[in-house]
Amino acid sequence: MGLKHPRAVESLTIRIMGDPVLRQRARPLTAEEITSKATQELIDAMRETMHRAPGVGLAAPQIGLPVQLAVIEDRETSMRELSARQRKERERKPVSFHVIVNPALTLESPPEVEFFEGCLSLPGYLAMVPRARRIKVECLDHRGRPRTIHASGWYARILQHEIDHLAGAVYLDRMRSTTFTSLENHKRFAAAGTAGKNAPVAPPS
Ligand code: ZN
Repeated sequence: MGLKHPRAVESLTIRIMGDPVLRQRARPLTAEEITSKATQELIDAMRETMHRAPGVGLAAPQIGLPVQLAVIEDRETSMRELSARQRKERERKPVSFHVIVNPALTLESPPEVEFFEGCLSLPGYLAMVPRARRIKVECLDHRGRPRTIHASGWYARILQHEIDHLAGAVYLDRMRSTTFTSLENHKRFAAAGTAGKNAPVAPPS
């Protein structure tokens, strides 16, 4: 299967739940494919699409391509609604733009840190999702070079979310189902409190 993608940077459409591509296991990319012009343009287009959404991560299946590639970036502007305390609780720190290809995930702590999480493929909804605090990801970067990422806190959450997408999984498969809520109702009911888990949420990925 060749790597085809839309040409125009502006035209990537984020696929919504119900699209079979979101439930497909993505295939690995070859070294040749990673360094190809098509993939480099795809990365640029995904970055643009992630910024525009806005989100903190985007996996190729979310724009209709079942290949094992995701882009990640958590900018200061994405967390401006969070207080210092909320950032600390979430272990949320800026993460510069980077690409993961063909990742292998190892959980280095139990999946028991719970915060609200959203997904660009299920816009307007959130749920509490337990995730591992600490992980290791072995992958290739945007130039096909091997890379080992040791991540913790919110960055580890983003990586787990994106790597799930590459296996055809979404947060619905892992969430505490009784916490599932519309974003609007989350703001209306849950965010009435000021502390911790009832706080404003992070952009989805
Ligand atoms: Zn998602």
